Amino acid sequence: MNYISTNENTPKVDFVTALFRGQAPDRGLYMPETIPALKPDEIRAMKSMSYAEIAEIILSRFLSGHIAPERLSELCRDAYDFDVPVEPAGDRLFILRLDRGPTASFKDFAAAMMARLMSEFRGAGAKRLVVLTATSGDTGGAVAAAFHGIPGIDVIVLFPPGEVSGRQRRQMTTLSGNVTAIAVDGKFDHCQALVKNAFADPDLRSIDLTSANSINIGRLLPQSVYYAYAYSRVADHPEPMVVSVPSGNFGDMMGALLARRMGIPISRVVVATNANDEVPQYLATGIYRRIDPSRVCISNAMNVGHPSNLARVVSLYGGRMDGTGAVIRPPDMDAMRRDLFAVSVSDSETRDAIREAWRDGRVLLEPHGAVGWVGLRRYLELRKNGEKPLCVSVETAHPAKFPEEIERLLGFTPETPPSLAGLDAGKESWRDMPADYGAFRSFLSGRYGA
Ligand SMILES: *Cc1c(COP(=O)(O)O)cnc(C)c1O
Repeated sequence: MNYISTNENTPKVDFVTALFRGQAPDRGLYMPETIPALKPDEIRAMKSMSYAEIAEIILSRFLSGHIAPERLSELCRDAYDFDVPVEPAGDRLFILRLDRGPTASFKDFAAAMMARLMSEFRGAGAKRLVVLTATSGDTGGAVAAAFHGIPGIDVIVLFPPGEVSGRQRRQMTTLSGNVTAIAVDGKFDHCQALVKNAFADPDLRSIDLTSANSINIGRLLPQSVYYAYAYSRVADHPEPMVVSVPSGNFGDMMGALLARRMGIPISRVVVATNANDEVPQYLATGIYRRIDPSRVCISNAMNVGHPSNLARVVSLYGGRMDGTGAVIRPPDMDAMRRDLFAVSVSDSETRDAIREAWRDGRVLLEPHGAVGWVGLRRYLELRKNGEKPLCVSVETAHPAKFPEEIERLLGFTPETPPSLAGLDAGKESWRDMPADYGAFRSFLSGRYGA
């Protein structure tokens, strides 16, 4: 299995190279050259498998030749030792709760596996690896927790202090050790730009930098697993399901598209964004315009004005988009529109959905999952008639990560899951930095001696 760049301007590489590079040398994103197919029997057999076993089956297709099956099995069992609830939430409607991992965010699924793979494939005696990651909310905490305490690897997390919740910040700032949190005076897009510049900077070439953002192939692949898992819990093969994915950088929905290409019967992927509606607009008009600066919404982990995984979506449909969002070769828009239903959801609709879901069915949502919930409802309303499809709405964070919002809307504070308890007591430490690449470069070269 080889990996190719979405910019199509660099040789293909194997999985391990793609994993450590993060971004391809031509600044594109790595994609599997071919997408392996699951046999109907294999999909049916997932019904009686654990999450970790399903992860092993899917990941083995992408890692073939790099890792012994028994070892992959161990890594999967170690990474996925928590609950993955698929809750009934109405007529043929389920909620996939991806919030029981170490930081109560769906990003734990990907980060936990990527950290284990990097630790596994880093040769003994290799020099210090520096993982750079920009976060608009949950990535930082999930990546920091996944790598915390792993010898030989440092994590540097850049976050926009005005856009993350107190709990999200604490998840990054209370770990210390090999984790450094940097508060960048700017927005998420600035943080992301600093990381991208560092990767492209020839002066930093002597530092072993790698990315843990959703552009890393090691994060993308594990995100296809939970769609196969959800399918195995709610459907009888070959019955199709609709999934609704609250989306920001589009890594999560890319996981759904990969699962679909592998053969999981997903009839439609509802891609729900907040007011950062550049992709719904793109599908509607065929013209792509990034939003700069990105719009601040209550679903803060989705405040993204140009999704970094969009180039992958475009490439999956035969097109080519460069890092700036310029469409070099248009994708098959008709096929994209058939497979995706992209919809933008306002903050007030998001808040109404949190109230209604609780009032009508005692379904507890937080702002990100609520965006997906509204997107799904919108999709179902537009379907003329016919049978209601089997639907899975993805909840990407635990409601307890947004206690103020939930308290204001529902009048109670959600119960804190064990993963978040104790966070408030930890001692915080972080560095402040202007949104200026020069400052970031001197920090990196000062610490790692470039
Ligand atoms: C990151 C995040 C998202 C968006 O996921 P993408 O893969 O970037 O589209 C949605 N919800 C929550 C809670 C997140 O942390």
